[in-house]
Amino acid sequence: MKVLVLNCGSSSIKYQFIDTKLSITLAKGMVERIGMSSAVLTHQPHDREKIRIVGEILDHTIAIEYVIAVLLSKNHGVIKDKNEIDAVGHRVVHGGETFSGSVLITDEVMKALKDNIELAPLHNPPNIKGIQAAKELLKDIPQVGVFDTSFHIGMPPHAYLYGIPYELYKKYKIRRYGFHGTSHRYVSQRAAILMNKPFEQLKIVTAHLGNGCSMAAVCNGKSVDTTMGFTPLEGLLMGTRSGDMDPSVILYIMAKEGLSLSEANTLLNKHSGLIGISGESSDMREIEEAVAEGNKKAKMAFDVFTYRVKKYVGAYAAAMGGIDALVFTGGIGENSSLVRKNVCSNMEFLGIDFDDELNNNVKGECSITKPDSKVKVFRIPTNEELVIALDTEKIVSNN
Ligand code: ADP
Repeated sequence: MKVLVLNCGSSSIKYQFIDTKLSITLAKGMVERIGMSSAVLTHQPHDREKIRIVGEILDHTIAIEYVIAVLLSKNHGVIKDKNEIDAVGHRVVHGGETFSGSVLITDEVMKALKDNIELAPLHNPPNIKGIQAAKELLKDIPQVGVFDTSFHIGMPPHAYLYGIPYELYKKYKIRRYGFHGTSHRYVSQRAAILMNKPFEQLKIVTAHLGNGCSMAAVCNGKSVDTTMGFTPLEGLLMGTRSGDMDPSVILYIMAKEGLSLSEANTLLNKHSGLIGISGESSDMREIEEAVAEGNKKAKMAFDVFTYRVKKYVGAYAAAMGGIDALVFTGGIGENSSLVRKNVCSNMEFLGIDFDDELNNNVKGECSITKPDSKVKVFRIPTNEELVIALDTEKIVSNN
């Protein structure tokens, strides 16, 4: 099956056109600056040069029209007819408590997505716009929604409830949801395959470390806890997000600095994390460079970052009653040997026998522990688009 995977943000759309049978991405690209006269489309067919087109793209419908046109184009395209697109798979950020798995998009599902807008006011509206645009342009082609939250939605109440009056959970659905579910699901399943053991019999901790960072405890094939919560702000330190902290801190800052709700929101989401502590950068590569040059604030930011990951490895080992594997993924998890080394140092007590040489020479999916290590540590590149394409294929084939 050939699936167009769309990840629609407020001003950008990332896409991949995947042949699930061959498991290859025939073309991928991105439309940026939607809504502006100088929007940019970059398109990379698998067998030809990357191209870049600049033009006026005023909304998501026009953007997806461009994507379809470039997939069909004589010189840069990979299909001859629109009908070669068998299905469209959409990444949807928040499925609330409604969706515990991927779904075929129907009018009923659209209504439920709209009902969940309040839970993800920044992310769900562009996701919905993308679905509406794709429906308009590809009328009879089935569309599937794959949610960031659904892998975590089966977490037990002791993991998802906050210590606030229960009525507030009932009234406003305030609970922990978790995100990056597609990635946690994919890399934990891959780890089980690499270990040649049934997914349903393993205790795996996954660390998705990118601009946004989260970890999950995947016990017997299910996510039983994860670090992100009601929003993606909770948990690990991230590029620009604070992660865990005493909720009173924000009330105190708001009072002291006279911040409005929206200013406080911006402070925690955009000016905190690595950039907040270091004052240098939100980008781990630049933090590492600054650390190497002796920058003390960058070193503090780096240490807070790795300490929190380490702390959650321990917490999740306790939550699951043991740990068989730890997986690193995401831009930082896949590429920073220093982060992986710092997280795994002094973890022999837990059964991690780390291999420095393997860690410094990673390639593709690989183990970075000694052969006899009780707990295996893996570096596994994530592939959320492939999961979306495969889920889409499964759902469309079963309907
Ligand atoms: P997103 O969450 O937006 O998908 P990515 O998963 O691409 O982001 O991760 C981006 C992060 O990965 C940035 O902090 C970047 O610095 C980091 N990163 C990428 N390559 C390296 C590297 N070689 N060493 C350290 N960090 C890296």
